[in-house]
Amino acid sequence: MKSQVLVLGAGFGGMELSTLLSEALGEKADVTLIDKGDAFVFGFSKLDVMFGRTKPEAIRVPYRHFVKPGVRFLHETIKAIDPAARRVVTDAGTYEGDFLVVALGADFDLAATPGLAEGGNEFYSVAGATRLREVLPAFSRGHAIVGVAAAPFKCPPAPSECALLLDDYLTTRGVRGACEITLVLPLSSPVPASAEMSRALVAEFAEKGITLRIGRAVKALEPGRKTAVLDDGTELPYDLYLGVPKHRVPQPVVDAGLSDDGWIPINPRTLETRFPGVYAIGDGAATGTPKSGSFAESAARAVCASIIARQQGSEERHLYAATGSCYVELGGGRLGRMDLDFYSGPKLKSVYYEPSAAWREDKQKFGASRRARWFGL
Ligand SMILES: Cc1cc2nc3c(=O)[nH]c(=O)nc-3n(C[C@H](O)[C@H](O)[C@H](O)COP(=O)(O)OP(=O)(O)OC[C@H]3O[C@@H](n4cnc5c(N)ncnc54)[C@H](O)[C@@H]3O)c2cc1C
Repeated sequence: MKSQVLVLGAGFGGMELSTLLSEALGEKADVTLIDKGDAFVFGFSKLDVMFGRTKPEAIRVPYRHFVKPGVRFLHETIKAIDPAARRVVTDAGTYEGDFLVVALGADFDLAATPGLAEGGNEFYSVAGATRLREVLPAFSRGHAIVGVAAAPFKCPPAPSECALLLDDYLTTRGVRGACEITLVLPLSSPVPASAEMSRALVAEFAEKGITLRIGRAVKALEPGRKTAVLDDGTELPYDLYLGVPKHRVPQPVVDAGLSDDGWIPINPRTLETRFPGVYAIGDGAATGTPKSGSFAESAARAVCASIIARQQGSEERHLYAATGSCYVELGGGRLGRMDLDFYSGPKLKSVYYEPSAAWREDKQKFGASRRARWFGL
């Protein structure tokens, strides 16, 4: 039986799901993939952009290269979702599917942190990272804060990476001695899924004189006084603020009644929402697992298998394995790696690989393999 699949969002989750359905079903896949952007961007390349390691235009992979049997890509903005009818309204049309997969990622809610838009710099969007290319060269003295407004947030190691890359950047410019760096993280450790990776990061912070404020969030900025206010009332003066804003699902997901307190409630193993035939994968889904590209791909694998089973008349649910690998930049060109597996055993399995320069090539292969698989580049 052929049935139409609407995939909302062409990020890590949507790209992988559409590719898997195309590989399995060819022309019969009947997938409509919708994204408001005209190019894919790897999350980690924002750090490369802000520290001048690459140019903003170099990180865009245009969707025109995404050509797969049985998949049509629509460059349209989703305005409304009716999950009960599995219907989507965009700025250019209305579409219905037998299956609807919400893979719209997470948006940033700058207004949730008063003063952030006026007095800080966020580095989690391409626009924010691009602006920082102008801001960072002017910072040569004083206190830099890398601060997170709320958890959960994308890529838990990224703020730690930002602090360590800032240390590198200031050292290379010969001004590190005149600067202080503080990292404010609303987590129990730098990477809660890996005690070893957290220990390695804490050791790097100590060696490099980076102050870590763990278990704290930045509640507000007071740009007039150049002060960050933490959730316990502590005030930290700053000269440069690099921020991770509060995250939540995009507004059409909220308006559709699909979310609860910022995230989409799902069955954490089948990724089904409370609406029949509607799944959520990737950053927007309240899985409790890390919000990262490789976990979005893991979710895509489960949902692809479930959709194909149901198209074949089976009610079998394929379970989200929640497996993924993360490369973590520790500065000085060294990267560590951790492999996480949430569900195959009775508790989280976490394998840690010591930092080395060799992981850089591995991380490049991670990006290159997705470019090749999704875009044929
Ligand atoms: C600084 C930083 C570093 C990171 N480093 C890593 C890393 O090293 N490894 C890793 O695995 N992950 C990393 N991540 C996280 C990773 O980028 C995300 O977890 C991943 O992209 C999530 O995939 P997704 O499919 O859920 O959402 P996304 O990839 O965000 O895709 C969502 C898509 O939905 C589209 N969309 C949203 N609203 C609409 C609308 N109304 N209409 C149409 N389209 C819409 C967007 O344009 C977007 O293309 C990093 C993230 C950041 C910010």
